[in-house]
Amino acid sequence: MSDLTRLTAVELAALVAEGQTSAVEVTQAHLDRISAVDGQVNAFLHVDTEGALAAARTVDDRRAAGEPLGPLAGVPVAVKDVLTTKGIPTTVGSKILKGWRPPYDATIVQRLAEAGTVMLGKTNMDEFAMGSSTEYSAYGPTRNPWDTGRIPGGSGGGSAAALAAYEAPLSIGSDTGGSIRQPGAVTGTVGAKPTYGGTSRYGLVAFSSSLDTPGPCARTVLDAALLHQVIAGHDPRDSTSIPAPVPDVVAAAKLGATGDLTGVKLGVVTEFSGDGAEPGVLAAFRESVDALAKLGAEIVEVSCPHFTYALPAYYLIAPSECSSNLARFDGVRFGLRVGDDGNRSLEEVMSLTREAGFGPEVKRRIIIGTYALSSGYYDAYYGQAQKVRTLITRDFTAAFEQVDALISPTTPSVAFPLGARTTDPYQMYLADLYTIPANLYGGPGISVPCGLSEGLPVGLQVMAPTMADDRMYRVAAALESVVGTLTPPAL
Ligand code: GLN
Repeated sequence: MSDLTRLTAVELAALVAEGQTSAVEVTQAHLDRISAVDGQVNAFLHVDTEGALAAARTVDDRRAAGEPLGPLAGVPVAVKDVLTTKGIPTTVGSKILKGWRPPYDATIVQRLAEAGTVMLGKTNMDEFAMGSSTEYSAYGPTRNPWDTGRIPGGSGGGSAAALAAYEAPLSIGSDTGGSIRQPGAVTGTVGAKPTYGGTSRYGLVAFSSSLDTPGPCARTVLDAALLHQVIAGHDPRDSTSIPAPVPDVVAAAKLGATGDLTGVKLGVVTEFSGDGAEPGVLAAFRESVDALAKLGAEIVEVSCPHFTYALPAYYLIAPSECSSNLARFDGVRFGLRVGDDGNRSLEEVMSLTREAGFGPEVKRRIIIGTYALSSGYYDAYYGQAQKVRTLITRDFTAAFEQVDALISPTTPSVAFPLGARTTDPYQMYLADLYTIPANLYGGPGISVPCGLSEGLPVGLQVMAPTMADDRMYRVAAALESVVGTLTPPAL
């Protein structure tokens, strides 16, 4: 294996900027790595070999011409297949969009290109980002590079596995209930969900619009912060995008890396630090809490009593929004069309298309959401869930009056074996127990490796107030300065 694939984005960008290697060489090394290992990992749904090499050549030409390069110029990035890419297949892990080539780039994809990063391809995911293991992809599961008999988390398992397998140094995910942080935790990588509205949803195929948040994935906190800086910021094409400056997450990551947390007050969430998680996960978490205290942080316990209701509230709100958003997949406008033989009605074609195009989990969500929104049940289900959402937001507000950031394990368990939870949707939903509150509130959350349990990675989650994304990067980088990065056994 080429050494280039082992380097961080910071190191790669420096080598390219200094002319010690070219963007084309860096890109080719990663394309070769993908050819060598992706048959085992299945992180990619589409590899854009020619597009990537062309983008890399542009960076090399600009450097040769003496043009200024951005901090990530020439660094390869893998993009979750939930973001539209002009002329490049975008399936969202679903059969219903098989073969669809969008006519436009998502804002994030456009910003990645403007920054001189090199898009390698599109990564595997649970269909429409619904799932916690990437087993609900219509294109086969992604496997965890730590143990290919185990799941890489979900829904963005492809983006996380690509990092852990050294197929890409950077990737993009989307987090509706944990789909960036949970895969980060179980693959030993870093995943950050920015503040809702801090990153643009323009060109992000919608699952649950009030929760969906695209964000950065990387192997180090500083790399994630640099990627965050490139993709974040106001976008007039997204009505929920926040028109305010992006918090200086790069400076915060650098500050954290000094290992000094003096004056920082961290709250351990009572509800998420006791029973309910695997003993090995709790042990790694508690060791990390001690480490953070040694770095100078003041640790207090904070109760967020409504967090226990986050999961049921989420599983009403997210399916409700999805049942509305997915109505656009009607066999007329995008992708698949089944049974259009000239003799069938529009309704019959729509029904046959959806029957063939959507997988079981997506159908389950649409049915639950339609039910929860129906006139006789709206107040009892959707209305109640929205009230719980408000109570959870109040828990966060009260907590942040006492502490700068909240910490918890990212997930209750390490990566589970493939197939272990696909027969029981509730067990699958539990994987996001600790990540969902931040989505309901809208604040940022990051998962950073905090140790191993049974030889598998464990993640620690840091949650911060809305638009205080910098705080979580500082804490995560400080922990990383003690724990280091985790390297999986060779594939
Ligand atoms: N696992 C959660 C779900 O299935 C969250 C998914 C996500 O964040 N996209 O809905």
